[in-house]
Amino acid sequence: MLDFVQLEADLDQEERLIRDTAREFVEEHVKPDIGEHFEAGTFPKELIPTMGELGFYAPNLEGYGSPNVSETAYGLLMQELEAGDSGLRSMASVQGALVMYPIHAYGSEAQKEEWLPKLGQGEAVGCFGLTEPEHGSNPSSMETDAEADGDGYVINGSKTWITNSPISDVAIVWARDRSAEDDPVRGFLVETDRDGITTNKITEKLSLRASITGEIGLNDVYVPEANVLPGVSGMKGPLSCLTQARYGIAWGAIGAARDAFEEARQYATDREQFGGPIAQFQLQQRKLAEMATQITLSQLLAYRLADLKERGDLRPQHVSMAKRNNVRMARDQARVAREMLGGNGITTDYSPMRHMANMETVYTYEGTHDIHTLILGEDLTGIPAYQ
Ligand code: FAD
Repeated sequence: MLDFVQLEADLDQEERLIRDTAREFVEEHVKPDIGEHFEAGTFPKELIPTMGELGFYAPNLEGYGSPNVSETAYGLLMQELEAGDSGLRSMASVQGALVMYPIHAYGSEAQKEEWLPKLGQGEAVGCFGLTEPEHGSNPSSMETDAEADGDGYVINGSKTWITNSPISDVAIVWARDRSAEDDPVRGFLVETDRDGITTNKITEKLSLRASITGEIGLNDVYVPEANVLPGVSGMKGPLSCLTQARYGIAWGAIGAARDAFEEARQYATDREQFGGPIAQFQLQQRKLAEMATQITLSQLLAYRLADLKERGDLRPQHVSMAKRNNVRMARDQARVAREMLGGNGITTDYSPMRHMANMETVYTYEGTHDIHTLILGEDLTGIPAYQ
């Protein structure tokens, strides 16, 4: 596997073990069928508990069954899962960074005890409802609202593009609390079997096909006060979760690019034209050299982010730079790998075009490429340019 500047030489034993476990899992359980899942538009649901048993959901959290592994180990895990498919890494990101993280960071003791072990083991599935039909890049203008009602809240609104909503047991729904001054955004744990909730599947996707995506309709859904995340109010709640997930994406995208690169390298040495392997042609070597260089630069950024996160010095803007750069890199390089495979490259028998298609989603969700550009622009100039 490509590790051109020997970054993996510095891994400790636990980090190697986690990387190897995830790599073997992907080789054994994901790669054989993922092309078929992509074509069929299905997610290999039977892997959800296996991934839990292997500790793939939020292992960087502490307590409630989570072992608090290093941020490098967590990043390597995301990288290996996304080398399998972005749908798989999305499953782990949503469950870990977008559902378990907010419960861990902002939940009551009862919420943590009820949900964290189950979610960690993959015995329950969670989803994160922030995006709405009319509010994507600007979620702070969300319309979903929660009105105090007796000893709880009644929630109305709709969320869309929600990973895993049709198979979730619980949704973290971000909504405006109309009973508090200035209508702050609050997080609500909404069990999906409550009256008034619907989770229709979105079926027309041409990207991230091996992942289940849906809507969340909320029509007078009652939740008790005990289901509100007590520890956070305002956009800090969802945004802090996104920083965690984007950190994993910055690592994960490298896995997709690396897998596309390895497929192209292998193909170039096997495929013969004009009397020899296509790898002997300078044009093909240039493509491999550029791919390897871009992957290596992205790896360096990801490893640095892990150090900063470990020290508590990681800023959301650091994560924006890495998410923006590494996903663009993976999107570009998967296309080059696809090109090297010629006609075979457009099939699901090989991974590059699947990764390339997946990267269209990864480029868009968790803050579009444009939005991360504006976040960096604001950080560099002090001037916000969103409006
Ligand atoms: P828009 O915000 O309408 O943007 C359209 C275009 O305009 C983009 O190119 C954007 O960059 C650009 N744009 C917007 N504002 C500006 C500006 N100020 N300046 C310049 N350009 C701008 N959301 C969840 O809450 N939970 C999930 O689990 C989840 N999973 C997803 C899974 C998939 C497969 C997909 C596709 C999306 C998912 N999302 C999820 C939603 C995702 O986060 C949004 O699609 C994303 O934030 C963009 O919002 P939008 O699609 O409404 O695009």
